Amino acid sequence: MPPIIGITATLKEDVDSVAERPLGRFVRADLDYVEGVAAAGGVPVVLPPVGGRRTAEAVIRGLDGLLLSGGSDLDPGYYGEEPAPELGPTIPERDAFEMPLLALALRHKLPIFGICRGMQLLNVALGGTLYQDLPSQWGRGVLKHRQETPKWQPTHEVEVLGGAYLGEIMDRDVIKVNSYHHQGIKDLAGGLVVSARSADGVAEAVEAGDLSERWLVGVQWHAEAMRGADPRQGALFEAHVSAAERHAMRRAAA
Ligand code: MN
Repeated sequence: MPPIIGITATLKEDVDSVAERPLGRFVRADLDYVEGVAAAGGVPVVLPPVGGRRTAEAVIRGLDGLLLSGGSDLDPGYYGEEPAPELGPTIPERDAFEMPLLALALRHKLPIFGICRGMQLLNVALGGTLYQDLPSQWGRGVLKHRQETPKWQPTHEVEVLGGAYLGEIMDRDVIKVNSYHHQGIKDLAGGLVVSARSADGVAEAVEAGDLSERWLVGVQWHAEAMRGADPRQGALFEAHVSAAERHAMRRAAA
């Protein structure tokens, strides 16, 4: 049986572009995440952010792995801060579903792959904090982390740190990545290690300090949008799906 990978989704207002009238709110997940999981051999299941903890407790039982997708800023209250002026829009329903879901996934030792916002959530769920806005809070020398070019196009490099599992997955020491974030990791959570940094020192990838204990990988770039241009980006999805498959087999044997 192929492993079932839950993919977090967002809520998005949509408008009829012809009639220029509001169509209401929609559950939305970028097809690139769904296809990334499917191409790696997993079964993608999109998880609407409704019902908070109650829904999270019910759906977690059906999942073999969790993919935390990118999107809006996390409410800084989750890491004990008041909002800075540069904080972007937040979606309370999304945070209220994903944070308990992530806590449960960590407790059940589900393999977790976090992308962009997803990597930041992973850090916060494990006790870390975020820069609410890199351009105003990082200080001198911060790179342009919010590119205006297409998503498949890499705009800055990241250096993989020695011995990182990420280097094994990507099979290289320097990775060219896209960049669509204005937030970043401030205090790193215990249990995580930084596995790649950009030239300004911003943490661009994290992983579990002890991968034999639990499979956790986070990347700050949108790997799902780069699979066509760089096949190694697809290897991240393959590693996650393989870990979910092993998790499902261990669970079946227990
Ligand atoms: Mn970046």
